[in-house]
Amino acid sequence: MASVLHLSTRVELRPFGKTGRDVPAIGQGTWQIDLSDKAAAIATLRRGLDLGLTHIDTAEMYGGAESILGEAIAGRRDEVFLVSKVLPENATRKGTRAACERSLRALRTDHLDVYLLHWRGSVPLNDTLEAFAELAREGKIRAWGVSNFDVPDLEEVERLVGTESLACNQVLYHLAERTIEHAVLPWCRSRGIAVVGYSPFGHGDFPKPNTARGKLLARIAAAHGATPRQVALRFLVRAAPLFTIPKASAAAHAEENARARDLALNETEIGEIDRAFAIGPRPRELPML
Ligand code: NAP
Repeated sequence: MASVLHLSTRVELRPFGKTGRDVPAIGQGTWQIDLSDKAAAIATLRRGLDLGLTHIDTAEMYGGAESILGEAIAGRRDEVFLVSKVLPENATRKGTRAACERSLRALRTDHLDVYLLHWRGSVPLNDTLEAFAELAREGKIRAWGVSNFDVPDLEEVERLVGTESLACNQVLYHLAERTIEHAVLPWCRSRGIAVVGYSPFGHGDFPKPNTARGKLLARIAAAHGATPRQVALRFLVRAAPLFTIPKASAAAHAEENARARDLALNETEIGEIDRAFAIGPRPRELPML
């Protein structure tokens, strides 16, 4: 990894695919924010925005999350790089438009920065891509992308419409789940497509402090006056075109995540993490949550 990717020393703004937008490598997720106290979730999202976590990910699948996010960004839309997703079963030509319009209403905005197909379903891909192109022409979305696409799915997009307009692929990526490094990440990197890693803390399954892996993260963190989670985030965005979108419903968590930008891991530390959380063999299918 270290040999093929340019190592960045700080979390900075990065080009988000070929959208022409520079976006912070660390953003905010919103899955299940509707399960926590609404006022606290809104305050946390806003605190994250204050600290530069302006890349915010949501989806029609996340139930009430879109409307909570809509409240959180009211009056601050211009600060946000806003991403939402259409469910595969809605991703027909008409259904994609209807889903997008529902999301726009819930989010109280007139456009999304990127609209994604949440995962590959049975609707012909071309129908969804045509809907994305229409929505883009009308200014309802600035760009489009995909999520949970393995290389054969990405190749189909490339065959159908090329990859110039494919902004990103949002995929599962955390220390214990690095499958994307086998093929998806190199494929996207070689074509200038952003790779947005989701569930950076394993969706609540972060290495425990009493394990060898937990102790390694703690040791590296202590050397920088940082936390193990900050070390994890920095590793996960150690090079372009990687982005990460941790979800926090506690303001202290958003603050900790935002401050990962002050951490610079050296190559030795990146190598240690790389070995401790080995990529493992390539599974037959791209893992997803
Ligand atoms: P995650 O970000 O890996 O983990 C979230 C958990 O970590 C929450 O319990 C949160 O607690 C906790 N947490 C966050 N920051 C923390 C900190 N600094 N210290 C301690 N705990 C912390 O899980 P995720 O929500 O699955 O993934 C992130 C986002 O990725 C989602 O919200 C969603 O936007 C996106 N996603 C996309 C897909 C897809 O198919 N495209 C799938 C899954 C997720 P609190 O809530 O209590 O703060």
